[in-house]
Amino acid sequence: MSGEVVREHIVCVDDEEGILTALQKQLQQRFGEECEIEVARSATEALELIDELERDGERIAVVIADQIMPGMKGVELLERVHERDKRIVKILLTGQAGLDAVVYAINRAGLDHYLGKPWDEPGLRLTVEKLLQKHRVERLNAELVEELRRANLGLEAQVTERTAELEAAKAKLEDANERLAEVNARLQQQAITDGLTGVHNHRYFQQQLKLELERVARNQQPLSLLMIDADHFKRFNDRHGHLAGDDVLRHLARVLGEGRRVNDVVARYGGEEFAILLAGTDKARAAEVAEQIRARVCAMPMEPASEVVTVSIGIASAPSDAEAALDLVAAADAALYEAKRAGRNCVCIAPSRAVA
Ligand code: GH3
Ligand code: MG
Ligand code: MG
Repeated sequence: MSGEVVREHIVCVDDEEGILTALQKQLQQRFGEECEIEVARSATEALELIDELERDGERIAVVIADQIMPGMKGVELLERVHERDKRIVKILLTGQAGLDAVVYAINRAGLDHYLGKPWDEPGLRLTVEKLLQKHRVERLNAELVEELRRANLGLEAQVTERTAELEAAKAKLEDANERLAEVNARLQQQAITDGLTGVHNHRYFQQQLKLELERVARNQQPLSLLMIDADHFKRFNDRHGHLAGDDVLRHLARVLGEGRRVNDVVARYGGEEFAILLAGTDKARAAEVAEQIRARVCAMPMEPASEVVTVSIGIASAPSDAEAALDLVAAADAALYEAKRAGRNCVCIAPSRAVA
């Protein structure tokens, strides 16, 4: 609601000057303070007046129309007024024989009241007063409903906006979480991976060795360890440079990984030395695997040097050679040392412990 005071208009329509004057005077006395009392001498004039008032944003509260007028009759005028705004109070003035017109007006024009001529002045004032009251309540109601509707629309728009903002924030958060998870996964992978060769690193090897040895103790399933060392690698580096040496290490890592089973662990133990854990594999089978690796490595010349690099391999198995991590590594190392001593490019197996 705007809060500004809009004057209400009461429009009296009659072709008889005397009646019009009486109506205007009586209404002016009672409602002159709160309403403008307007007069029109025909239905057409009344419609023009109503048009003009509405154009100016004025409010028409009541139309009192005589039934019998030259040209358009009172009921037709009220019917048109009703079509424009159902809230305008409509009162018909009729002579003795006007009952048909009243019934018609009730049905078609939403007639609020009819006054028989001659009318009783206090009765007219009381009727207009009551109907004006009703009209004001209805108008206020409509304004409140409209105000509520607007407030609701505003709220809905705000809710929609907030929901969209929330959705966008949620999507951003999910995106950030996804990226964080990816970064974490990458970091975790990096923490157990050797940077140069891409196989597992020493730390991961030690972890897995411990876990696998626990499994050996539980299940009595054998575990074999291969220690693999590049032969005369210092010489290769001296001849072809450290970068070519790095290429060799990467190449070796690839060959060691070929044919790996899911539970096998291939790791860079350090320098030019690699280790492979073969879960559930006894020494005889491990020796076959080691021999395949040795043969594959020495069958392949290293680019760009076109020089064959060979490896020596030492094998030890749990529980036959050792049950503790350090002991198993020491046994495989001893076997590797044996392979070096035996002339390199070969596989040596740790001697099994004597069982007491
Ligand atoms: P052996 O056959 O007895 O094992 O002789 P070797 O020369 O391979 O052994 P040694 O322990 O004397 O030398 C190891 C060499 O491996 C020396 C070192 O520079 C090289 N090496 C260790 N790590 C890397 C690396 O990451 N990249 C390169 N290019 N070379 C490495
Ligand atoms: Mg070496
Ligand atoms: Mg070495």
